[in-house]
Amino acid sequence: MTRMRMLSRATSAIVLFVLFFLYGQSLFTSAYADVSLRKFPYPYRSMIAWMNDTEGLSTTTFEEVHRFLNTLKKNIPGYGDGVGLDIGDSFWLMAKSNSAVAMYSGPRKKDGSWPIDNQHFVLKYLKAGWIDSLHSYASDVNSEAFTFTRADAVHLIDWLKGKGIYLDVWIDHGDNNSNVGTNWGHGRGAIAGSPEYHSDVTFQSDSKRGYGFRFVWIFSGREHRSANLEFEIEDVSEKTLSKLKVGNTIAIRTIQNKNPTKVKITKIDPSAKTVYGIVNNVGRHTMLDYRTFLDSTHVAKAWEFSRVTSDRFGRIWYANLIDKQVSRETLDYLVENGLYEIFAVHLGYWGLPSGKGIERNTPQLLPEKSIRAFRLVKTYQDNGKILVAKGSRLLRYNLANDFLEFQVKVDGSRTIIVIKRINDPWLGSFTPAVNDLKGITFYCDKPVNTDIYIGNDEVPSKEIQRNPADFTGRKSIGIKWYAPDYTDYTQ
Ligand SMILES: [Zn+2]
Repeated sequence: MTRMRMLSRATSAIVLFVLFFLYGQSLFTSAYADVSLRKFPYPYRSMIAWMNDTEGLSTTTFEEVHRFLNTLKKNIPGYGDGVGLDIGDSFWLMAKSNSAVAMYSGPRKKDGSWPIDNQHFVLKYLKAGWIDSLHSYASDVNSEAFTFTRADAVHLIDWLKGKGIYLDVWIDHGDNNSNVGTNWGHGRGAIAGSPEYHSDVTFQSDSKRGYGFRFVWIFSGREHRSANLEFEIEDVSEKTLSKLKVGNTIAIRTIQNKNPTKVKITKIDPSAKTVYGIVNNVGRHTMLDYRTFLDSTHVAKAWEFSRVTSDRFGRIWYANLIDKQVSRETLDYLVENGLYEIFAVHLGYWGLPSGKGIERNTPQLLPEKSIRAFRLVKTYQDNGKILVAKGSRLLRYNLANDFLEFQVKVDGSRTIIVIKRINDPWLGSFTPAVNDLKGITFYCDKPVNTDIYIGNDEVPSKEIQRNPADFTGRKSIGIKWYAPDYTDYTQ
């Protein structure tokens, strides 16, 4: 006998009803009830990414720092042994600085050509995977020798397509008019009719004209999140106040995070009916938010994601402050609550101790405490707690996990999980390839008797991973995550 049910976030209410009905009829086999989607790839309980913004990073430092971050090479000068984490970077199409991680560096000549053509470097690391995002097209504001226009966007898109490279992630930062966000006052990329207008060809949109960037970080306010924020709750009732004590932890909802967040109470002021605390506003159940651009001619849509950029003292998105991003307390919190997080970083800059501004002319190396922080995170990955993934991989996984639609068939002794589609409600439903499903894992009773199909096609056994019980006591089957790649691509 074969029975089916459809699971997706959008139909969960219906699923509950169907489950109840089937149980009532005693037609449900145990294999059905026990297939459910795991939040993260086995055995992990959290997934994090660092996204490096390329400002301030020279090609030399890029190679140095990624040799430490991505490989297991021994005795790297200034760093010690590599940590071998999966950390990606960003690039520009055009930059003013001669040494920037950019395809072209300026100033642009009168004939439109560039004095420095670094296509070779950018292509090498795009192919290696050490670059997996675009930090908008241009590095700085317009000047006569440095004018960005739509033609430049089209040029890069054609170049990427010609090389067979499809990037997902757009970081809208820096002070330049190729940005689509207008917060800095210069972003004109989504204003139809302007010479810089490009959002229709850049992003995956309903018109399908776009290249395909579908995950964006925009400098606008809500995209920033902070670790250990100071917090005050006003108008607390006397009854509640009488129950609270300094040092207690309570759960609240914040504007940035719909899910309850723990607040440690630091001070109670009964006369002002106010409770003060520290909120660890790190970690989210999903990184994806709906985003529509300012655009008068058509709807350019993307998934917007946020990143941790600050703590309560100021910006912590600098090479020398990694320890402030990933304390043991924060990492444990992510694990215990089963959360994603993306940390923004500018590996080319050191932040001032005051938390305000950038230190220039730094040695351009990670200081010891940042190196130790990366090593600490590595131990969480080695212990099966936190998976460190490139931002693009995390976001693709997040999308698949949030909107996966699958059916479960029981046929004799075999349980068959049929993946139907990723029912993306914002950018459109699609039938995934194995690459869109890396790491997707299902709890099930008997992994050995379970198979995974995408539509009518069985996922090849080399892509399948059957897992013993995890911390919940449940076994699982999944599509393998990416194999680690510790290759030193600088050689
Ligand atoms: Zn940046």
